[in-house]
Amino acid sequence: MSAHSKKSYILHIDGDNFFASCELLRFPHLRHCPVVVGRDRGIAVAFNSHAKKLGIVRAMPIHHIQKQFPQVTILSSHFELYKTISHRLVVIARRYMDTVSLYSIDEVFCGVSTDDVLGLAKKLQQEVYTKLGITVSIGISQTKVLAKLATSVQKPNGITHITIENRRDILSRIPIEDVWGIGGRTASKWRRRGIHTARDFADIEEAVIQREHAPVRELYHELRGVSLMKLGGDGTEERQQSFQSTESFPKSGERAFLFSEISRHCEILGARLYASGQELGSVHIYLKDEFGNYYSQSSAVSSSSQTDKNTLTSHNSTMQILNTIEMLFDGLYNPKYLYKSTGVTFSIAKPKKCKDVPNTMQASLFGGFSSTDTASEVLGGSSLSEGVREQNEPRVSTSLEVLKAAVRAKNGHSSIYTGSSGLSLHRKADKRRILAKTDHYIYGLPLPYLGIAR
Ligand SMILES: [Mg+2]
Repeated sequence: MSAHSKKSYILHIDGDNFFASCELLRFPHLRHCPVVVGRDRGIAVAFNSHAKKLGIVRAMPIHHIQKQFPQVTILSSHFELYKTISHRLVVIARRYMDTVSLYSIDEVFCGVSTDDVLGLAKKLQQEVYTKLGITVSIGISQTKVLAKLATSVQKPNGITHITIENRRDILSRIPIEDVWGIGGRTASKWRRRGIHTARDFADIEEAVIQREHAPVRELYHELRGVSLMKLGGDGTEERQQSFQSTESFPKSGERAFLFSEISRHCEILGARLYASGQELGSVHIYLKDEFGNYYSQSSAVSSSSQTDKNTLTSHNSTMQILNTIEMLFDGLYNPKYLYKSTGVTFSIAKPKKCKDVPNTMQASLFGGFSSTDTASEVLGGSSLSEGVREQNEPRVSTSLEVLKAAVRAKNGHSSIYTGSSGLSLHRKADKRRILAKTDHYIYGLPLPYLGIAR
């Protein structure tokens, strides 16, 4: 099959009711009941289709929902869980697509050349459901704007391909305010000019559009099937330059606890960095004391250690980066102070092709690779034990996130902390045992250990 026979497409993948779907992985028995996410925020952040049918809308106050719809189950949000699922979605998409770029936590744009784009989309959709337990809707077309519009045509679990043949028909059914980039205010301006649908907009004479601002012109051409917006992805994307993970907790001056926080952030970032297909350039950590003062420190991570895979095992590379971070930490930490939050930033080094075998250091930061995690494991099975390793999929401990989320849902957000996944503490096994006996934060659980605050 020659490359010339393949056509290029842009795909938009969108998680259906994403936050609610992620929460329902924890509470599968609620799948057919109305569920709203947002207890912790006081407003509806997300909801499933059953809640939507009742008339619940985004940002509706929770106390209002409780009063008016007592049958609705209200859940708290758990962004770490959503991020984990989001990154796994990207990893799956990378296996099918030539370029993948994360647009928002539950939306991905992809580019691919293939002769069976529908078949490919179906397989991807199926794998996401099997592995992650959530459904996605997929839009296919020639431009980003059309692909994003296509996704909205059939939801949930839909696949819509906007082609030259069906384009004007589909556009005629889309109100102007639903076009990506046209807000309510702009939409009423267009409506006053007699432009009510996406098709009306695409049918405007080109000479008239020339008088508009550049973003409007770009949108116009994109709707007409001329791809102008950068797809993103490998090489062409404005890549994310850094990744950050932070969290606050009840005041603590305990070194073991604070460092476990720091190394946990490193693991989260390791997973995100891996999903982005980029290499680590430098690390930055901070501690914030009880009075709100920040103490921070950065360090470059030597790139030679990342490329010289023959001399450095993954364990050594991980140790190296954790050594660096521990040095930074000890430079900041003062045992006389109480701290209330920590954070870590990973800045990227240079672009890296996403289909490369991930470099050993970043891989091991979050515990190796496995594609054995299935929906049932996400639902709370035991993936804490090591599964069969396969290449190219990060093993993000989703079930740990689920477990953690469940404990937090019961006992409050600050009731539980995840330590690093043992690897970081492995070299100090003797010290760790002592801590486990004396430190009231740490129970001797296997890897990764959980520290439970009292
Ligand atoms: Mg969505």
